[in-house]
Amino acid sequence: MKMEIKTLGILGGGQLGRMSALAASKLGIRTHIFCPEENCPASQVTDAFTQANYEDFNALKIFADSVDFISYEFENIPLETVEFLQKHKPVYPDSRILEVSQNRLKEKKFLNESGIKTALWAPAEKPEDIIETLNRWNVSDCIVKTTRFGYDGKGQIKHNDKDDVLSSWMKLQTEEAVIESIVEFLYECSIIVARDVFGNCETFPVTLNRHVNHILSESIAPAPISKEQSDLATAMGKKLAEAVGLVGVLALELFVTKDGELIANEIAPRTHNSGHWTMDGCNVSQFEQHVRAVCGMPIVKPVQHTPVTMHNLIGGDVKKVPEYLKRPDACVHLYGKMEAREGRKMGHVNILKLQEK
Ligand code: AMP
Repeated sequence: MKMEIKTLGILGGGQLGRMSALAASKLGIRTHIFCPEENCPASQVTDAFTQANYEDFNALKIFADSVDFISYEFENIPLETVEFLQKHKPVYPDSRILEVSQNRLKEKKFLNESGIKTALWAPAEKPEDIIETLNRWNVSDCIVKTTRFGYDGKGQIKHNDKDDVLSSWMKLQTEEAVIESIVEFLYECSIIVARDVFGNCETFPVTLNRHVNHILSESIAPAPISKEQSDLATAMGKKLAEAVGLVGVLALELFVTKDGELIANEIAPRTHNSGHWTMDGCNVSQFEQHVRAVCGMPIVKPVQHTPVTMHNLIGGDVKKVPEYLKRPDACVHLYGKMEAREGRKMGHVNILKLQEK
């Protein structure tokens, strides 16, 4: 019997693309990475690599012709690129959810329309809108975020009514922003949901996330939250996936308040840093689940077999690797980045809570 070998094209060459390519390889699927930077983490583990800009439509057409399915590893891919590729090959998740997640105003609106609670929010086009909103909400503080290209706390400021509103606005360097009420949260959590072309929809156990300087530092799975909260987070994730007809993996970031309420913060229509623990703690990883879904295979029900704490290796944290390598409970994942710059995600370690026999 002859096996047909399929190829998955991935836009973006970072660590998420790298770990997706490795998961694809496990399933006998080839990968072709398309990325503007040379020697990116994914280029080191892929079958084919195109170095070109996302606006290079000739290169995109050649790329599309060489693959069977297309996905992307981050949400700041130009929408036109995905819409162009969709005319040639199946691209998952499709451009609808990409468009929503690229703009915080559209994202908040979409979440609320899907019946999912967010912080209070209001659009802002000029500094005075911040003052007007603080007065209307009768509060003295808020967070102002650029509508586009924000990640790891970039593109956002905290504003107090004693601050100079013009200088707050100038720091953002934007023409369009979203003002959010400050959520007094106990924890930050995330839920990762996968949905396939057959309509199967599954979630991973909820993860608790700790950030340092706005960058994810540690994830604990399962999150030490109540069954009701975990069920609610799961229902929210599934509701979103169904609402957008998701094919692939999507992460929903949530705040857990002291009253036990769950408030949605952000959607990422892709695999997520807070799901890296699944590589060693579950029967199926978020990357495998994603590859299965976008390549037209069925996803499976994730079952966590081991409690895990994931530590990101950021910048100089790579110095700890030799110690981690000696530990039987530490699963080390490095992304092949040559330079350990401050704030740069170099790898992660999944610490397993192993049972003594
Ligand atoms: P974001 O860029 O939206 O993911 O926000 C980065 C981090 O800022 C989050 O992980 C939170 O720690 C914090 N943050 C964002 N929005 C809010 C909010 N409305 N209230 C309180 N903290 C927030």
